[in-house]
This record gives sequence, structure tokens and C-alpha cells, in this order.
Amino acid sequence: MRKSLIAVAIGAALTVAACADKEAAQATDQQAEQQVQQAEQQTAAAEFNQSNPFYAESTLPFHAPDFTKIKFEHYEPALLAGMEAHAAEIAEIATNSEPATFENTIVAMEKSGALLGRVSAVFGNVAGSAGNDDFRALQVKMAPKYAAHSDNISLNAALFARVKTVYENRDQFEGEKLRLIEDTYKDFVRAGANLTEEQKVRIREINSELSSLTTEFRNNLMTLVDENMIVVDDKAQLTGLSESQIASLAKAAEAKDMPGKYVITITNTTRQPILSSLENRELREKVWRASAERGSGNTATDNRPLVKRMAQLRAEKAQLLGYDNWGAYVLEQSMAATPEAAQQMLRDLVPAVVSNVEAEMAEIQAQISSEGGDFEVKPWDWAFYAEKVRAEKYALDSNEVKQYFEFNRVVEDGVFYAMNQLFGITFEKRDDIPTYADDIVVYEVKDVNGESLGLFYGDWFTRDGKRGGAWMSSFVSQSHLLGDKPVILNNMNITKAPDGQPTLLSFDEVSTMFHEMGHALHGMFSDVTYPSLAGTSVSRDYVEFPSTFQEDWTLNPKVLANMAKHHETGEQIPKELLDKVMAAKNFNMGYDTLEYIAAALLDLEYHTLTPDSAAGIADVNSFEQASLTRNGVAVEAVPPRYRSNYFAHVFAGGYSAGYYAYMWSEVLAADAFKFVQENGGLTLENGQAFRDAILSKGNSKDPMQQYIDFRGQKPTVDALLERRGLTAPKID
Ligand SMILES: [Zn+2]
Repeated sequence: MRKSLIAVAIGAALTVAACADKEAAQATDQQAEQQVQQAEQQTAAAEFNQSNPFYAESTLPFHAPDFTKIKFEHYEPALLAGMEAHAAEIAEIATNSEPATFENTIVAMEKSGALLGRVSAVFGNVAGSAGNDDFRALQVKMAPKYAAHSDNISLNAALFARVKTVYENRDQFEGEKLRLIEDTYKDFVRAGANLTEEQKVRIREINSELSSLTTEFRNNLMTLVDENMIVVDDKAQLTGLSESQIASLAKAAEAKDMPGKYVITITNTTRQPILSSLENRELREKVWRASAERGSGNTATDNRPLVKRMAQLRAEKAQLLGYDNWGAYVLEQSMAATPEAAQQMLRDLVPAVVSNVEAEMAEIQAQISSEGGDFEVKPWDWAFYAEKVRAEKYALDSNEVKQYFEFNRVVEDGVFYAMNQLFGITFEKRDDIPTYADDIVVYEVKDVNGESLGLFYGDWFTRDGKRGGAWMSSFVSQSHLLGDKPVILNNMNITKAPDGQPTLLSFDEVSTMFHEMGHALHGMFSDVTYPSLAGTSVSRDYVEFPSTFQEDWTLNPKVLANMAKHHETGEQIPKELLDKVMAAKNFNMGYDTLEYIAAALLDLEYHTLTPDSAAGIADVNSFEQASLTRNGVAVEAVPPRYRSNYFAHVFAGGYSAGYYAYMWSEVLAADAFKFVQENGGLTLENGQAFRDAILSKGNSKDPMQQYIDFRGQKPTVDALLERRGLTAPKID
């Protein structure tokens, strides 16, 4: 198991928790820390005994975790013993007296860390899907240990020397082996393994300062919410809000010791949900300004110096590591490969998106005039009048739509049916496989020829302790090297109806279920030798491609005819209702797309700077404005989804130079789906072609090459514009 794999297995929650703790660990004397750690590991190893179910590989089918035996107390000792065992294996590889070979170095690393991989996969999944305070406390406790364990591998000079020897003799390899060698080598180089001691010292200084700045930025975001709260004295100012909305603002005021008043709290994006219903225009402006101007010197907390300094440090780090800029460093391992390619994709979208925004703006302006308003639409007006246009022209009764999407029917006659039509696979219930909580259904997935592919856990319902949203993950990754078949999970947060009543889904929930199945099959169809290249272990701008691609079967006529039937009468969903669903889905899409593109381009502007040009930013606000203008996305009424001073993805999280990735994946999905529609649609031939070129390959082949193998050419943005209804501006 390679270092990069560990982070995946641990899960997002732990990675987040890792940041703060890692700093604390760095501040202490490293040697003492190591001794304490060793002592703790020895104690843990002593406590570790044969009764711990993680100690041996599960004997259940597909090595599915045996939840009849796993208890919370098993995780910590198994995690510690797993790290200890992995460290010993790595030490053995690094000190091997034989000359370094692909087998004794790279393959040996792939085989290492079995226990740690096993326990962390289960721990990460259960913590996310059915965790509690004990899980979270253990995550926080383990985070610095994991970080230190990972660093010990990537900073192991003897290990790197052996990897480098194999890398220098890579000419004799091709295909998956060559990719694995290059990937493994790059992981070390990107962590600074090739640098001089002096350079390494500087990298550590930069990492440490970046880490502090990131934490400070993140903490500032919370302070800024407080500093920018809006206190309303008079209920009359809140006209337009529902009684329950008003009640929750009153409650927020009480919590702030201001009984009798109303407190509006800003949310993380520039747009604020409350603006769609607030009638008082002055108050709307006040709320919008509090949001958009936060962190830019409007209150005591100012994020501008942090933004500038981080851009500068990242540029310096990238240059030390041999890259032109931070974007080049980050995107080297992505499908886009360069920041210029990502910028080009976004810029290709701009003309069509801006003309749609202009059409939407004209509708909004007309609405303002029709009500006797004598002003030009401002950013704080958009949502309010857009809501009126929507209610008038695109009204949709979502409750009526739900009647046609009953949960079981969507799963079996929708998602499973579509995947059967496309890939020939079937899903058979396995009641004998234990699960970690109630309401999880396990299926064995059978291939078109009847052979077993792996296990699929559908954990679709919400429960206490489950994190929000929807995601795919795995207990076991496919690999021929280890002889493992995939064990895959899908998680969603559907609210289950009371016993005896049908669970009815919204259209969004239905397409999310198809989306997550797309990720699941990326894991399920994986057909690679090395575990670290399996399934969804691809770059961030590629991973959402197979999932978004599958989303669009939701609207396939054959699938709809099979799935979308009234839960009481069995009647098909009427076409007029479907048309309304589509129109409502694409409403305001120009705005949605432009605010996203503007933010993504802004991210790339900061991360294509040299250290000097970043240091030369006189004012972050003017830099931002100039960047938007230069890219043709400066529309006053449609500001970026995030402005620099609260762009958490980029300055408080791990998405720097990567915010474009969602759109890149969607471009691929739309282009590939359109290609399939033009070539027969829902057929086994199309499914097989997609499986052969994309779903079976994991990260064993360059993603652009995978795409070209399937599509015959590179993607263009045209199909994405169609998918979002942005081809021809609609003025009427
Ligand atoms: Zn996804």
C-alpha cells in the first residue's frame, strides 16, 4: 500500500481533522514524539490479540468485513498495529541487500500495509456512515499518527533511492507497470525527495507557514460570519420571509443575547438563500454586502494579506520543486495536465454562458419594470426577481413529481435496470452478509456471463451519525496482484418513510442515485493488477466523469418508462410534467454556470503567478476585478460564487488550482453521453465500449488517452452547453 492510498482509505473526515493536529505535532520535539509513539505502538501491539477480527483477512465472501465480530474497541489497536506492521515492511524493502528491482521495490510496496488498509477502510466508512463521538475522537487522535506514518514513508531516503533506481531503468517496462513506476516515483519527487538539504529546509518552512495560514484563513471564515451578522430591529423589515424563517432569525438573536431582535447569518457562498424572498431592497443590499465584502477590510478580520501570502508561498514552493507555478505543480497529475488547458476549457464556455446570462438578466429587468421598479438589477436583486420569474414561468410541484419515483422501483426498475441494459450485469440480494447498521442492502453483482464481479452495499437512507451528502467508497479494492474483487458502497441521505408507507424520491435524489452508481461501477469494473491504480483512484478532474455520465440515463425514455410510474395507480409520468422538470432544472443556469466559471478562473489566476508577481499584488480586490475582466467574466450582477477573501476551497482546503475540476468532469460526461446517444444509446455494445476504455482502467492508463480510446477524439464543450440548456439564449 502506497502512501497516497493511505489518505484515501482513512476518509475525508480524518484528513480534515489531521490539519490542526499535524501542526501541534510539528511544534514538539520530533524525536521525543517518535519515542512516545513507539512506546504507544508497543503497548497497543501487546494488547492486540487474536480475537481482533482485523488481524486476519475476513473469511466472508469477497473478504467482506465481518460486522458480527467487529467492535469499536478493535479499531484503535488494529490501526496502531497496522501502522507498525506497515512501517516494518517498508523498512525491510528499503534495507533489502539485493539490487532494487520492480518486484522487490515497487510491487513489494503495493503488497505492503495489508492490515492497515483493511482496518482503515472499515474505520473510515463506518465513521462516515454510522459514526458517533467515539469515532470522531479516535479520528482526531489517529490523525497526527497517520500523518507521521505517511511522512516516514515519503521522506525515507533509502526507499526513495531504490524507487529512483527502478525509475531510471523504466525503459524495459510498458503499460500498467510503467505507469505504476512513474506514479510512485513522482509521489516522492513531488514531496521533495530530489531536493538538496537546504531546499528541503525551505520546503519545510513553506509547508509550515502555509499550514498556519490555512488554519488562520479557516478560523477567520468563522469569525467573519459573526462580524458580518445582520441585526434587524423591526419585524416589518422581514416581509417576504415565512413565519418559520422569521422565527429562526428571532431564535438566532436570542442565542446572541438580543431577545426581541432578528439575526441574519451569512452562509459560505456569495449568494445568500434569504435574498430570494426578502422584499426590503435596502436590507437585501446590506445582506449581500456583508457576504461579498467579508474579509476584505470591511470588518476587523482581513483575509487579504493571507490570500496574497499564500499565493506567493505556493508559487515559491512550485518553483523549488521545478515547476513554473503552483497550478503546473498541482495539475501535473490531473487529466487537464496544465493550468492553461483548464483555463482554455473554462474560457471556451464564456461566450455562450454570458449570452445566456444576458437573456436571463433581460427577463429579470422586465420583471422589475413590470412592478414599477426604476432601477437596474444589482447582485442583491437577482435571486429575488429570478424567483418571481421562476414561479410564473417554470412553476413545478415537486410533490407531484415524487409520486412517480418510489424508492424500490427507482433502485430496481431504474438504476439496476439501466445498468443491466447497458452492461448486462445483475444485482442479487445477499442476506447473509452482515452490515454495520440497519437498512443497508448487500447485493452480489454478476457479470453478463454470470460470473461474480463483487459486492455492492446500498446504504441509501439517512441516520444519526451519518455525514451529509452522497458518496461512494469501498471496503476492498480490486487488484489481480492480491486476488481481490471489489467490495463497494454507495451512501445517500434519503429520508425513509414510516413503516407501511412508500418512500418517494425527488428528481434530484433519483439522479444522485444514478450518479453514485456511476462511481460504484468505476470501482466494480476495475480490471487492473496493482491496487493503487484501481477503480476511482484517478485524478479529481476525471473521477466525476463516469458518475456524471450515468446520471443522464435518468431521463432515458426506456428507463423512465420502466421506472417512473405512479406509486398508487401505476400510471406513467406524464410528458408535460417531465418537460416541466427539465425546464425547472435548467432555470437560471446561465447565472449558476457563470458564477462557477468566474470562481474557477479566479482560482487559476492566483495559481499561475510567479513568486514575484504574487508578491507584487498591491490589492487583492483589484487583482480579483482585473482577473475577472481579463477573462471576460466580470458581470456586476453575477459575482463569482466565492470571492478571494472567503474562497475556502482554495485558501482553507485542498482544492487550490483545482476548483475547475467539477466542470472538467462534466464536460467529459456530457461529450461522452452525447456520443453514445448518437450511436445507439442504451445498448450492450455501448456499455462494453465504455467499460473497456474507461471503467476497467482505473488509473492504469493516462486519462486523456482513455478518453480518446473511447471517444475517438478529445472532448469539446458543446455537449456541456446543451446539457445545461445554454446553447441558444431563450428570449421571449
Ligand atoms: Zn460524484
